[in-house]
Amino acid sequence: EAHKETLEFKAEVSQVLDLVIRSLYSNKEIFLRELVSNASDAAEKLRFEALSDDGLYEGDPQLRIRVEVDREAGTLTVSDNGIGLSRQEVTETIGSIASSGTRRFLENLSGDQTRDSNLIGQFGVGFYSAYIVADRVTLISRRAGLGPEHGVCWASDGRGSYTLETVEKASRGTDVILHLKEDEKEFLDSWRLRAIIAKFSDHVALPVEMRKEHYGEEGEEQPETPEYEQVNRGTALWMRNKSEISEEEYHDFYKHVAHDFEAPLAYSHNRVEGTNEYTALLFVPKRAPFDMWDREQKHGVKLYVRRVFIMDEVDQLTPHYLRFVKGVVDADDLPLNVSREILQHNRKIDTIRQANTKRVLGVLEAMARDEPENYGAFWDEFGRVLKEGPAEDFANKERIAGLLRFATTASEGDAQRESLDGYIERMQEGQEKIYFITADSPAAARHSPHLEVFRKKGVEVLLLSDRVDEWLVSHLTEYKDKTLQSVTKGDLDLGELADAEDQAAKEKAEEEHGSLLEQMKQTLGEQVETVRASTRLVDSPACLVVGEHDMSANLARVLKSVGQ
Ligand code: ADP
Ligand code: MG
Repeated sequence: EAHKETLEFKAEVSQVLDLVIRSLYSNKEIFLRELVSNASDAAEKLRFEALSDDGLYEGDPQLRIRVEVDREAGTLTVSDNGIGLSRQEVTETIGSIASSGTRRFLENLSGDQTRDSNLIGQFGVGFYSAYIVADRVTLISRRAGLGPEHGVCWASDGRGSYTLETVEKASRGTDVILHLKEDEKEFLDSWRLRAIIAKFSDHVALPVEMRKEHYGEEGEEQPETPEYEQVNRGTALWMRNKSEISEEEYHDFYKHVAHDFEAPLAYSHNRVEGTNEYTALLFVPKRAPFDMWDREQKHGVKLYVRRVFIMDEVDQLTPHYLRFVKGVVDADDLPLNVSREILQHNRKIDTIRQANTKRVLGVLEAMARDEPENYGAFWDEFGRVLKEGPAEDFANKERIAGLLRFATTASEGDAQRESLDGYIERMQEGQEKIYFITADSPAAARHSPHLEVFRKKGVEVLLLSDRVDEWLVSHLTEYKDKTLQSVTKGDLDLGELADAEDQAAKEKAEEEHGSLLEQMKQTLGEQVETVRASTRLVDSPACLVVGEHDMSANLARVLKSVGQ
């Protein structure tokens, strides 16, 4: 199979390429970040496979990435001595973007450049960012462990087809050669490249090397064997001392791990010593990922063991209701060959998850206290996820409840900004409960006739209209010893708030309208349990109420809409 063949891209590839080029053009230097990050992934994969077969190092265990330019040829090359690719693997990964991923990428494009750029990383079309600056890309690779005759050369102008050929390649790993477009020759300037590498790849835990530049007498000979120097910092950022890391470095690192273009809202960096030693660097993003509500989708932080990358999206390291958290956990005391199955029943992992949970809740509490505006932005993106918390995490229920925000009858507009603590402070004299109403829209909640008596008495009511709210209130039944009470359920019990006047009015109504109530009950028959006079209405003539222990009307609606 040494023959050269020409193959067509899967139909969607060209479409993705066009979109990648168009949507990323104003950020074009990220192509280098993508290629360096692929090279670094390839090195990590080799390191991992070599744990069980160190023959894969082929006597060359110094892993590194090199960026080289050839000014005459107009090319820029990123090479690594990582795991490499077999011919088959090239066809599967480079030749056809895994088509389901591509389809979802296309579906999720928004036209907003910043958002779409994030998607590029999330969907793994990073390699194709090379075509932002190159009109032709050649990839030459050999998989570690295969003989030099098993090299493979892939080349394409990104216009619909590519060629594939078996070639000799002495060293293992991958060279990606970019034939730069005529007006992208700025990327032949080694100082420009150094600046980009420093910006994006300082924390890549692998040296990125470039040729030493020799300036001197005109015509001075360059050394025969090129000398290289490291141009990135090359240490794992999370292992450095907190006090030595600048805000900007944290932000750049976040952008790298999260494939995000925006800085995070907050982060937490901790080293834990003792019987279970580990480092955790966790970030709260500014924006929700497009797939936050996709049940199938994996979420979570990256797991390293003693600086060796083990796996991505380890959902055992953060609870599901904090699934938006990104970052890294580097554990000292786990075996390098941990599998996802082992992680599921590992006490060390459980301990780390519990500690991570407390740290993130702490970060959110601080944000809510010190930066209410940021917290509002956080809440709008992630509030509905956090509302899953009280049902999922019994131990931290009260803390999570303290972080919840709501629209209420006292707030203007539908923004959810009021806390339960704020509500409690505003409670009326004699009020014992926290009242809420659930409905299927903010407007329906705000205009419900059930609120009339509360308005009259100046009692605040939480307006709940997110889908998850029914779930929330079925698990969060009290906060700081105050019961949460639906205003649409049962015999309205205003406790101390009900005055003698209300009581008298109710009795009078029952007396005067007794026969009417009786008649209504007979007409409605089985459809209602009872018809009674009430003081809960002020302007409206009647309203529907469910029993104290029955499913709320809104929940019934929600369940019906999902076919239950
Ligand atoms: P992602 O890195 O998110 O998977 P990319 O488009 O950047 O998506 O890369 C696609 C795939 O191509 C990678 O998953 C990897 O299998 C392969 N690949 C790309 N570059 C390299 C490389 N330098 N060495 C080995 N494999 C690579
Ligand atoms: Mg990549």
